[in-house]
Amino acid sequence: MTEVITTRREALKGCALAGAAALAAGAGLSAAPARAAAALQGPARPVIYRFGFGAFEVTTILDGAIQLEGPYPIFGEDQFEEDVKAFAEQNFLPPGMMEIAFTVTLVNTGEKLVMFDSGNGAGRRPNAGHLRNLVTEAGLSPDAVDIVAMTHFHPDHIGGLAEEGAAAFPDAEYCFPSTEYDFWSPPEVAEAEATARVGKLVQSNVVPQAEKARMIGGGDAVVSGIEAMDAFGHTPGHTVYHVESEGKRLLLGGDFCNHYVMSLAQPEWHVRFDMDKDGAVATRKALLSMLAAERIPFVGYHMPFPAVGYVEEADGAYRYVPASYQMNL
Ligand SMILES: [Zn+2]
Repeated sequence: MTEVITTRREALKGCALAGAAALAAGAGLSAAPARAAAALQGPARPVIYRFGFGAFEVTTILDGAIQLEGPYPIFGEDQFEEDVKAFAEQNFLPPGMMEIAFTVTLVNTGEKLVMFDSGNGAGRRPNAGHLRNLVTEAGLSPDAVDIVAMTHFHPDHIGGLAEEGAAAFPDAEYCFPSTEYDFWSPPEVAEAEATARVGKLVQSNVVPQAEKARMIGGGDAVVSGIEAMDAFGHTPGHTVYHVESEGKRLLLGGDFCNHYVMSLAQPEWHVRFDMDKDGAVATRKALLSMLAAERIPFVGYHMPFPAVGYVEEADGAYRYVPASYQMNL
């Protein structure tokens, strides 16, 4: 096929040149130089998606993405490497490399603009950490964010809370899951080797905002229509948010499942980033079961952008069904 096209294009180009030469000869001019080929532009990908949801408006923003070795052993670290690699290939994924994307969600209730998590911030630029600029590009300004509600305190979620030592969303109040705050905020967590990386970022980005924060737990409302749900396992205080407006429901799932194939098809496989493996498995299965049974869409922080999809149950496992035009109707 390529050869045919090439041949045809060459043939056409030959005709055009011959024609130009004939014209030039006729006019007594030399042939003009060939036009330069269009420059390669590099990859382009969507980074902002918005849809109406009842009386609310939901915007998802891609803070960025990183590429790294995986899915094994990040996903399925308790499995045989060759099994995980074969499962990846079976699902049209390369066995040795993967991408992790970061999607932040903003919900405008008409009264309050609520943002969920904050992206990576400066620590992961240039690959990620673009949230603040993109909030502006999305027609909302960082100053307009009324509340930042956190799912948990891992760096890819709290990194964007501060920018050059100041609050990145200066007029915002915060909702911090109280269990998460109590676990990470003691200064000694930033000293212990195993927790130092996260602990230090919590000290610089989270603790300074505590006086503007409401400490919340499962069942607490962020604003009317948005309620926190405990989702322990990934971290001690991992929290998801149930959004409801005019009878429509949406779950903002944070990191309860972190790979659109592995986490859904193999919810029991251990995930390196889950701090309590068994707790994370139990939470993952419970939420997947709820989403499938009640046919509720969800936004997953690490699902492929725009990160909105459904969960289908099949043979005791689950399948991610990316939203297509449902949200646009
Ligand atoms: Zn994460």
